[in-house]
Amino acid sequence: MHRTKQTKHILTDADGVLVDWLTGFGEYMAARGFVRKPNTDHEYVIGKRYEDLSISDGHAIVHEYNNSSAIRNMPPMPGAQENIAALAEEGYTFTVITSLSDQPHARDNRIHNLETHFGKIFNDVICIKTGRPKVKVLTQWKDTGLLWVEDHPNNAVDGHTLGLSPVLIAHEQNAEFNHPEIPVVSGWADIYKMLR
Ligand SMILES: [Mg+2]
Repeated sequence: MHRTKQTKHILTDADGVLVDWLTGFGEYMAARGFVRKPNTDHEYVIGKRYEDLSISDGHAIVHEYNNSSAIRNMPPMPGAQENIAALAEEGYTFTVITSLSDQPHARDNRIHNLETHFGKIFNDVICIKTGRPKVKVLTQWKDTGLLWVEDHPNNAVDGHTLGLSPVLIAHEQNAEFNHPEIPVVSGWADIYKMLR
């Protein structure tokens, strides 16, 4: 890792890292009568997690949810609030990079949700098209060694390739991830300890 005291800036994903997308989405689906398939917690693909939902309909409903006002009410990830507050107190700043949606109203909803849980601590909230890779956005921090907090293996590996210092937040869907230079943590309490 190349982090120094001058780089108290953290790049972070939002869904599954700051806020609990799966719980929010699960409530949205349940309200619409969709039923979860058993033993699919390891599946990333939403079309595989629900009965009577094709892969493409799964993508469509994710797009619909991400652009809905339900995004304003997503719960925070366990442990995120207190540990991020402690890091902010110690001078860390944060940029959020999220593939929620590139629609301005979706970004407004995301900022409202994040500021409700974490306060106005974010330098920027960069929103790109739903589900898109983040490599282009991350390129502006190439070779900075900045901490990059993700839960999607591909985005974590892209950050590593660009000379960032990724950590992966563990979930059922990324349980098979294994990279010699990317630590897997259970949440922000572990990240706080790493930075001490
Ligand atoms: Mg995520």
